[in-house]
Amino acid sequence: MVMGDEIKIRYHNGFDKIKYSDNSKENLAIINRTTTVTTTTSVYQTSTVNILDDSCKIINNNNNNKTSATITSSYRKDNNNTNIKHYHQNNNNMPDVDDANMQWFHGKITREEAESLLTPREDGLFLVRESTNFPGDYALCVCYNGRVEHYRVIYNDNRFTIDEEEFFDTLIELVEHYCLDADGLCTRLRDPVVNKLVNNNLTTNNNNNNFSNNNNNNNSSNNNNSNNNNNQASSLLLDPKAFEAAGWVIRMNDLKLGEILGKGEFGDVLLGSLHGQKVAVKKLKDSNSKAAQDFLTEASLMTSLRHKNLVQLLGVVFDGPSICFVTEYMAKGSLVDYLRSRGRLHVTRKDQIAFAADTCAGMAYLESKQVIHRDLAARNVLISEEGVAKVCDFGLARDQTLGLDGGKFPIKWTAPEALRFAKFSNKSDMWSFGILLWEIYSFGRVPYPRIPLADVVKHVEKGYRMEAPEGCPNEIYDIMRQAWHFDPDCRPTFSIISQKLDQLRALTT
Ligand code: AMP
Repeated sequence: MVMGDEIKIRYHNGFDKIKYSDNSKENLAIINRTTTVTTTTSVYQTSTVNILDDSCKIINNNNNNKTSATITSSYRKDNNNTNIKHYHQNNNNMPDVDDANMQWFHGKITREEAESLLTPREDGLFLVRESTNFPGDYALCVCYNGRVEHYRVIYNDNRFTIDEEEFFDTLIELVEHYCLDADGLCTRLRDPVVNKLVNNNLTTNNNNNNFSNNNNNNNSSNNNNSNNNNNQASSLLLDPKAFEAAGWVIRMNDLKLGEILGKGEFGDVLLGSLHGQKVAVKKLKDSNSKAAQDFLTEASLMTSLRHKNLVQLLGVVFDGPSICFVTEYMAKGSLVDYLRSRGRLHVTRKDQIAFAADTCAGMAYLESKQVIHRDLAARNVLISEEGVAKVCDFGLARDQTLGLDGGKFPIKWTAPEALRFAKFSNKSDMWSFGILLWEIYSFGRVPYPRIPLADVVKHVEKGYRMEAPEGCPNEIYDIMRQAWHFDPDCRPTFSIISQKLDQLRALTT
């Protein structure tokens, strides 16, 4: 929607329940101004409009004395919700151009950033952000009693809900509902923390294309994208057309598919050949599924991250109903399989420290980009032909619905605060890195070998920690113990451990 566009609207009860309509001719409105905010999963447009009567005069609703309305449209990849709400008139009888009715929406900010914005902690001060722990969902953050409560807003089947009892078509309706009534929240919503970006009309949908082209094989030192840029890229890349425009689309005709290399969460991974180069192809059949959206989210994040210890995305294939994404081929497969299949006889001390240092360097890069892996484990590290370890499956939208009682949730690799409070961070990744070190030095054993899965959390919370694997150097076990500090703040950073491991690597013969 751009300024001057004409749209058809219909409305009920004065302007209170105006609905936007593309095809009915009830009323005409002219757009005065549009603000666009892009997020990881959606594009939100807020337009101020003048509503016209049949003779194209601006309607002046005598009862309410209102002449303008605001339309908010939210676009997801394959659906389109549009809603008109709220309106007002300033003294000149002209539309108020600051009338953006999603000013409380702050996009992809972290929990900590939300908490620092929510000051002073007055009851009912609130904002909405995209959830970092549950990608695709949102979080409603509200102050109460000097604290900030973060409510997960589940987005499912095109509807939003907090309690899975009341469902709303838009976030706006959800917020309005909880403005009227706490309805189970700690307090009703009162004042929004206004997003300055919305007010200043700073973000636009098409102008901020920060993608790196896939022909550009720069390494990490050349990657200057800030985290914000990554977020921006993520939001745009969810649209297949945006992948195309950014040069990340590979044509199916250019790709030859071969044997199955492995089976992953999203589907089969096949060996492929692209212009004579061996590649790995992750294939997903149903492009309309939530898995497809997650898949694209992972791909979009991967486009903005480049490091010699991260598995590099080469491009995405949109082939009819199926989507594939193409990464560099890692000839020696997953680290866990490598360790188990070769064992003590073939995996040397030097190999072990090299795998540990490589993985840690990749993680230190993710840490510097404030990207949280959430599923770091030896199964998610791949080994190249030359024996370089690289982290894969980063940026993955994890299926948080998997219960803690087993299933596919990586309980043995997950930090206590992440298990209990879904508090994932680079420090919870550090906990997982400690487990991964243990896997390397035990030649691929399953962690906590003698403890039933159901008892692991209980033991860990009581202070139990695994012993050093047989033959593990003290310096490495020392790192494991630091990584398993119960308090995440007391765990070291990847950048510190990376330096230590590089030193140890240099000393290992
Ligand atoms: P994933 O879907 O990433 O969990 O991958 C499942 C399995 O496919 C891995 O354990 C590997 O055996 C194999 N695989 C995945 N990606 C690659 C790759 N880039 N190169 C070689 N094998 C891969």
